[in-house]
Amino acid sequence: MIVEPKVKGFICTTAHPKGCAESVSRQIAYVKEKRASRELGGDLEAPKKVLVIGSSTGYGLASRIAVAYGYGADTIGVAFEKESKPPKRTASAGWYNTKAFDAQAKADGLYAKSFNGDGFSDEMKQTVIDTIKNDFGQVDMVIYSLAAPRRTVKTGEVAEDGTPVTKAVSSVLKTVGTEFTNRTLDLRTNEITDVTVPVATEDEIADTVTVMGGEDWAAWIEALDGAGVLADGAVTLAYSYIGPTMTHPIYKDGSIGQAKKHLKKTADEITEKYSDRGLRAYISVNKALVTQSSAAIPIVPLYITLLYKVMKKMNLHEGCIEQMERLYLDKLPKDETDAEGYIRLDDWEMKPEVQDEVAKAWETVSTENIQELGDIDGYWQDFYEMFGFKFDNVDYSEDVEI
Ligand code: NAD
Repeated sequence: MIVEPKVKGFICTTAHPKGCAESVSRQIAYVKEKRASRELGGDLEAPKKVLVIGSSTGYGLASRIAVAYGYGADTIGVAFEKESKPPKRTASAGWYNTKAFDAQAKADGLYAKSFNGDGFSDEMKQTVIDTIKNDFGQVDMVIYSLAAPRRTVKTGEVAEDGTPVTKAVSSVLKTVGTEFTNRTLDLRTNEITDVTVPVATEDEIADTVTVMGGEDWAAWIEALDGAGVLADGAVTLAYSYIGPTMTHPIYKDGSIGQAKKHLKKTADEITEKYSDRGLRAYISVNKALVTQSSAAIPIVPLYITLLYKVMKKMNLHEGCIEQMERLYLDKLPKDETDAEGYIRLDDWEMKPEVQDEVAKAWETVSTENIQELGDIDGYWQDFYEMFGFKFDNVDYSEDVEI
């Protein structure tokens, strides 16, 4: 069928298989080119067997590509994506990305196996453990890049038929303490409007921590370790965001920020708990970028359009793959962390000269001047590319197998 973008709010309900493959190829080409000119700094022995949880889009996909083509690593990926329902419904972008990655990696002589299902579940953990046992023996790196709006958890009760009772827990993007009003970009109309972000209840905060905090990451590490499939000296990473003060009420100090605090605490606990095995857990603070998850956060899309404009002008702009290449081939091998132990991939975003310009634009931005002050076109280009659209070398008038 001929696949066209169908945008609804901040998501696109269709994805283009060839466009997604193009996106993956471009990311692979980028890492290959960089790798040719970059020696791994520091004394990290390049991991060779890597598990990526949340491997199909955004930072997780870019991480998988960076380690596969940067270290020559064999990878197992876990993601939760939608299959196509012919004749009309396309698969999700992450599903096509994963197919494309697996095919390309295999063609390049790398092992790549991907699982589609709920990474929070015990069943998925067991499937992955069995695969590692069979195919790898052990993994020496675990990347946790899962971002989800909800998680199914066990309540601790057992149903009459003996199965555990479960419930769905949702994360929210709200403030903590007081509501917050600021400007936002309405992605449907490109208008600047005011938005008031409501206060999360205690329960909502706790649920957000359950979904996006470190509990499941720790559960993965414990399960892998318990099964004997985690190598001594293995490295594990998860991702966070901090950002400038104008976004703190909704991000760093908001409900999602509480989950990210828990993630950092989890990293420190993992490092401590497995210190005799030499395991190291890191949080990498990444740059704000257009991904399926970030598009859903109020205020952040406006910040991103202003940021893109400034960073592109200063020649400092990066996308997911540029960020992850720099993480895995430069910062991590050099063990470059700040005083609190974070790896700072937001170092260029947070440069004072970048933030000063963004703050100035934030003060004066309006519907009338957003095209001039913000990189709306760049935002939408990235948005469409996430779903495999608007690549200049893909023929979108062609019939494709979905
Ligand atoms: P994303 O939406 O592009 O990717 C999320 C991944 O998680 C996908 O592979 C998806 O399939 C997978 N997933 C979702 N639910 C799952 C489930 N139940 N089981 C298994 N897999 C599941 O998101 P992203 O923006 O790349 O976010 C990844 C991490 O990076 C998050 O921790 C996020 O907070 C962090 N981060 C993002 C930004 C940003 O600006 N996008 C900035 C800094 C840090």
